[in-house]
Amino acid sequence: MNVIKNTTADLQEMDRAHFMHPSTHMRQHAAGETPNRIINGGKGIYIHDTEGRESLDAFAGLYCVNVGYGRTEIADAIYAQAKELAYYHTYVGHGNEPVIRLSDRIIKSAPEGMQRVYYGMSGSDANETNIKLIWYYNNIRGLPQKKKIISRWRGYHGSGIMTGSLTGLAAFHNAFDLPRAPILHTTCPHHYWNAEAGETEAEFAKRCANDLEKMILREGPETVAAFIGEPVMGTGGIITPPEGYWEAIQAVLNKYDVLLVADEVVTAFGRTGSYFGSLHYGIKPDLITIAKGVSSGYLPLSGVIIGERVWKVLEQGSDQMGPIGHGWTYSAHPVCAAAANANLDIVDGENLTGNSADTGGYFQKRLHETFDNHPLVGEARGVGLMAALEFVADKTKKERFDPNAKIGPRVSAACLERGMIARAMPHGDILGFAPPLCITKAEVDKVIDIAKQAVDAVADEVA
Ligand code: PLP
Repeated sequence: MNVIKNTTADLQEMDRAHFMHPSTHMRQHAAGETPNRIINGGKGIYIHDTEGRESLDAFAGLYCVNVGYGRTEIADAIYAQAKELAYYHTYVGHGNEPVIRLSDRIIKSAPEGMQRVYYGMSGSDANETNIKLIWYYNNIRGLPQKKKIISRWRGYHGSGIMTGSLTGLAAFHNAFDLPRAPILHTTCPHHYWNAEAGETEAEFAKRCANDLEKMILREGPETVAAFIGEPVMGTGGIITPPEGYWEAIQAVLNKYDVLLVADEVVTAFGRTGSYFGSLHYGIKPDLITIAKGVSSGYLPLSGVIIGERVWKVLEQGSDQMGPIGHGWTYSAHPVCAAAANANLDIVDGENLTGNSADTGGYFQKRLHETFDNHPLVGEARGVGLMAALEFVADKTKKERFDPNAKIGPRVSAACLERGMIARAMPHGDILGFAPPLCITKAEVDKVIDIAKQAVDAVADEVA
């Protein structure tokens, strides 16, 4: 008879022996030198673990659990759909009711001109689909040279071979032989670090657009197919665009017949206080990547929303080439779609986008009041319910800490000791916040109080 080993210590031993974690120090983990927390439940904005500890999750998992934990409505929808139809493929025109309803509601709520949704299981695979569609688009148009894709330093678009190449963070390239051609990276639009002395946001935004134009001209516009960007940079440090940025970037793209991909894996479905980040910033994308908030992570689901310009050429392509040679076994999985519908029923029914704008506005206000003058904080920034604190060694001279001092991770650890998860972002000394969109103002006060205690504690250590 099998004996179920379920003490925390037993589980940790099995974990260290057999489980390869993402984004984890392999040797230290195997040796038991890293935290190995086993999460076993959650309710609202809190999670808890096998040792009975509870934490306020101010990062919504990986900014995905937008409706919060423990929503039985979604669990019930998953159960009902799995009983009725757990799986059938969607190749050669097959459909299922949940995915048809989901596509209808997504297109109706998306920016103008969006035509169809193609589904995957992760943000990374959705961006791989984007790259293939972009290349196909220009082949069908008779422009086989027009293939390069420009992303930005510190942009995050996944960790596959091509999407890891799009990602503009060295940690995702080093020792993986990435980035692969034909991917290029342009200026990161972070005014705090990258603007010149006295340069306004609007001037800096223009300079970013000029840098992009220079890159396109240097490469040859006939070779540049697309530009991809997150409306608000996420993993690169939660960086809001400088004033006028998207307008200036889009003017350049239009001039050179370059497609625009809005990677809304984090921003879609309410995170910025608008239903889509593109709507928030007046972006008119040709393709939109969605994932995370579409299902709040209750089941994996992603998608590419395809705009008119690309869709027309895809139809033309089928006439020339036959059915499109692209598909995953689990594209448009009915159970994942049922979870997404139940999730979006909550997002819409509880007006979580409105809460993101309202409570998010309160969060941003409290963050600025509490941290703008804090000696350890160079910049407090954000929009809606996504925000960051960036720590500096010298606020007046704008000097960074030695990365080996690991200030960001130390503040994150100090938050955790006080019962809250806020994420040490992978690049720089940055603490990120992206709580579930159902957070209340009283809970925001708690987030701010704990963050203040944690930042003060680390400031005392380094003083
Ligand atoms: N794009 C953006 C903007 C993301 O933030 C992420 C993940 O954080 C991805 C793509 C990749 O998504 P996934 O981790 O589901 O592959």
